[in-house]
Amino acid sequence: MKRTTLRFNFFAGSMAAVLCASTAQSLAPIQSHGLPGAKANHARTATTFVQYDDPYSEFRNARYSNAGLLNERDELKLGAQLHREVTRKYNLTDVGLDRVERIGQRCAKASQRPILLYKFHVIQSREINGFSLPGGHIYITTAMIKLANDSELASVLAHEVGHVAARHSLKTLKQSQEYDDIAKSLGELTGVAGSVARDLGVALGQIVGGGLLTIHTRDEEREADFLGVRTLPKAGFDPQGMVTMFQKLQRIEEQHSDLLGSLFSDHPDAEERISNTRYEIARMKRR
Ligand SMILES: [Zn+2]
Repeated sequence: MKRTTLRFNFFAGSMAAVLCASTAQSLAPIQSHGLPGAKANHARTATTFVQYDDPYSEFRNARYSNAGLLNERDELKLGAQLHREVTRKYNLTDVGLDRVERIGQRCAKASQRPILLYKFHVIQSREINGFSLPGGHIYITTAMIKLANDSELASVLAHEVGHVAARHSLKTLKQSQEYDDIAKSLGELTGVAGSVARDLGVALGQIVGGGLLTIHTRDEEREADFLGVRTLPKAGFDPQGMVTMFQKLQRIEEQHSDLLGSLFSDHPDAEERISNTRYEIARMKRR
């Protein structure tokens, strides 16, 4: 019987980074005036908007690609191999898959990485959870599907698509000791049989079990929230769904924290994520 605690969490973040609390107001325009001694023809006043309270300022101009990471072909191979390990470890089911696929593909097409072929999967589990792997594999548990209405489910899926678009797992892999071996094996991999695939399977099985590629830093979670909430209206979903999803998870954390998996209890940052999400929704409405 497969009874493994899911080592992934939509709601998890590392404690490594300390964030300032942000408020949903004050997009104060700061005027920067030309210096008094500047030449007359340069004395034009420049108006810049400096948003000290913008929780997502460092992500606004981000451009994403595989440059410096595994190339996309190897990313797809890695994703396929990792997915095999996931199917060994967890019970995948068709329950709710149609709904997840329908909502997930809309989010994927509206995302920062729309060209990739995303594959959505449902894991039979009483834990409320979702995670993603390189190559566009996105997993969500039956408990999460039951808990969420469509816009809430979209917020979870758009968040996971955000991790894939920002190549968070590939960046983590790049920093790991296993990177060189895995990259070499993927390059040599031609089929599923043979010793290269076998050795790679063992290494990737350990990675899936240990959660190396599915546990993200707090900054990465913030970035995936940002990409997710911005995707929702483009995909035709109410971005408020992300707020109510966090609120639901927050309530469950208070009452049945065991259902949120082992990681969540260490990371009580729901308030901050709700406030950041509200900030972005207000900002999107202004534009
Ligand atoms: Zn996440």
